Amino acid sequence: MRGKEISVVCDSCGRKMPRNKAVAYEKGVSFSTELHNANDVRFFEKKKVYYCVSCAKHRHIFQRKAEEAERNSRKGRGF
Ligand SMILES: [Zn+2]
Repeated sequence: MRGKEISVVCDSCGRKMPRNKAVAYEKGVSFSTELHNANDVRFFEKKKVYYCVSCAKHRHIFQRKAEEAERNSRKGRGF
């Protein structure tokens, strides 16, 4: 099987590119059930999106990923 690359679409500009050249980023998306009562459950889901390198740079994705990694490592250390 030659050239079987999974292509993804940039979430920002819509450009198609092979997944290994794309920058994966987990975007937090919050939902609400809109019930407006005690059962109103808000939940938070992480949606995986892909950006091409130029959009990732433009949106500071690399910076955000680094910040997130730092935050996670700090959390792991505890108080
Ligand atoms: Zn793009």
